[in-house]
Amino acid sequence: MKFEPEKKLIFGETLEELEVFARDTGQPKFRAKQLTDWLYKKRVQSWDQMSNLPAEWRNILDEHFELSPAKPLLSKESRDVTNKLLMELTDGSLIETVLIRAPMKGVGQRRSRTTVCISTQVGCAYGCKFCASGLLGWKRDLNAAEIVAQLMNVCHQEDTMTQRATPEISSFDNIVVMGMGEPLANYDNLMKAIKILNADWGLKFGARRITVSTSGLVPEIEKLSEKSIQFRLAISLHGATNSTRSKIMPINRRYPLEKLIPAAKHFVKNHGRMLTLEYILIEEINDMLDEAKKLVAIAKDLHAHVNLIPYNKVEGLSWKRPNIMRQDRFASILKENKVPFTIRREKGHDINAACGQLRLKAEKPDFTR
Ligand code: SF4
Repeated sequence: MKFEPEKKLIFGETLEELEVFARDTGQPKFRAKQLTDWLYKKRVQSWDQMSNLPAEWRNILDEHFELSPAKPLLSKESRDVTNKLLMELTDGSLIETVLIRAPMKGVGQRRSRTTVCISTQVGCAYGCKFCASGLLGWKRDLNAAEIVAQLMNVCHQEDTMTQRATPEISSFDNIVVMGMGEPLANYDNLMKAIKILNADWGLKFGARRITVSTSGLVPEIEKLSEKSIQFRLAISLHGATNSTRSKIMPINRRYPLEKLIPAAKHFVKNHGRMLTLEYILIEEINDMLDEAKKLVAIAKDLHAHVNLIPYNKVEGLSWKRPNIMRQDRFASILKENKVPFTIRREKGHDINAACGQLRLKAEKPDFTR
């Protein structure tokens, strides 16, 4: 289903498109740059605040464009410094954005590294068995503006809350495109959103600090291999054999490891950038020692970094998070074999941080906002 809002969404417009709009509405080209400065540098939230734009043009902008396509509904702070934002889009759809704050060693409590995890679709069609996002199926793709607006909402929230935020600097350090939806299934909108986030006239956020995560869409990985891109790629592997992977990720039947690994290798060869393999540890599904050894072989073959993520329980699903001993035993195999890895212990367990869980709760009739 394609969503066509009544008004165009301003955060989905490039500078070039706004220059055409300025010309078509009788304004000089430089008005477009003034407008993007208000949106991305000064980050005001109403047309009235854009004081150097002529009043009649502000009225025209208001008639043609929606300024806030994603309304923050709920913000949940967890005990372990994860903050989850539930947002409502103009058609009433709900999406999630998660902020994960990790304290930085040696710089005191006031400075932490903040990663923002954004969504690219409402729901998801890929049906990974452990994931809350796929439980209600796919509703629609987000357009570029709705992807960008998630970051702008975070900026607006952080601008008022943190000491370090200044109007010229975004208040987070990394963006991971790993929330609800399969990002590469919404390829064109994602590419446009990244262009806006990265542009000097836009959020000016370095592409190397953006990671796009895919469940393994081989044709799109191949397409990215041929493009000049700066962002990083992560592959949600979650199983080191076809039988394990197919059990929990239906996508593996279409693109099994013998197709996925060569595509990933091609990407690494063409871009010369280290790939990340995401691996959710689920008890007695993929956390066995044998599976760890097979993961070592794949990671070494791809020169990849492995990100181990102990499973966050999803209500209604029977999968379990392995205990610390099992997690450590799995990690030790990677360590012994000198595979670079990180293990993300507890992040947002108490606020349903696993992707799609807060939305899932909010869709229930008894949910109170
Ligand atoms: S893990 Fe990602 S691709 Fe799989 S169902 Fe969830 S959102 Fe979709």
